[in-house]
Amino acid sequence: MGVIGKQLNLDRKTEEIILVALSACFFLISLIAGYKENGIGGDLVIPMIGMEIHLISTPMWIIGGLLCIMCLQQRYHSIWTNGIWLLAAYFLTAMGTILFFVMYDFGYWWYLTAVVLLLLALSMLYWMILEVYTLRSRIVDAYPEEEERMEMGEWALLLPAFILITIISYYYYSKWFLNEEGWFTFGMATNGYLITQIIIFGIVNYIMYRPHEVFKKYIQETEYDRVETTNLLDKKNQCVKCNNIAEERRYDCPECGEMERSVFCNICEIHSISCYNCSNLILLGERCTECDVENEGITCIRCSFKGGIREWAVNNG
Ligand SMILES: [Zn+2]
Ligand SMILES: [Zn+2]
Ligand SMILES: [Zn+2]
Repeated sequence: MGVIGKQLNLDRKTEEIILVALSACFFLISLIAGYKENGIGGDLVIPMIGMEIHLISTPMWIIGGLLCIMCLQQRYHSIWTNGIWLLAAYFLTAMGTILFFVMYDFGYWWYLTAVVLLLLALSMLYWMILEVYTLRSRIVDAYPEEEERMEMGEWALLLPAFILITIISYYYYSKWFLNEEGWFTFGMATNGYLITQIIIFGIVNYIMYRPHEVFKKYIQETEYDRVETTNLLDKKNQCVKCNNIAEERRYDCPECGEMERSVFCNICEIHSISCYNCSNLILLGERCTECDVENEGITCIRCSFKGGIREWAVNNG
């Protein structure tokens, strides 16, 4: 759970909805501030480059963008390294495309730089696919029953779509900037830019949402770099108290059917469960040692249903 949830004492689901709404607001504010052709507020012209800065809309554009990124970081914190890959790929593609179209007539060095930037962007996505699929196969190796739920087919296809639409978007942006017509602009380059940016925002959310939903139970979220991790992947079926391999028990959520596990140790006579908030492994009924959240019963990671072990349906599958 992120900072906002802790401060306002929200449950995880509410926090996630608020963060998506906030990030969308900041995104639109930033987009509109950047879009205002004549800017809002007084003008400042930077000498040398001849770029114009508007005293109100330019800071709004930058701050809105940063706040939007911060909300996304809070929303998808469990897999945020992928968010960084995605951001890097976005800016590299944007720069590459702008250079390509704006510096078109200034010799092949610009041309080459643009190509290098685009290749770098593609390699970022390649690393991201590698990272996500490695994590997925680690989880499926440990918990084969999760294979079906972790199908990521259409997810990988969205990554090239993301690059393509970013290129189209900044093509429109360049044409708008140069104030000239090009293929497929139809005199509407600015609208094209706005619409493609909104599509990109949607795609980015989906690219982050899928692995976050699928993996969050298995990757422990921690604010510190801990050497020893205690998540479901590293300590499969281990009792948290005595570290012996113990019996795994499965339960189905009575509200939404999501499967949760506990590990019951015969020696200690206690259940180990993973904290619904940060996925750290803890003893049932105790406060989480990592995030300090109370875990009285089992809480469903999907629908936030809370109940003692007897209120959960036993899954014998
Ligand atoms: Zn034990
Ligand atoms: Zn916790
Ligand atoms: Zn549920």
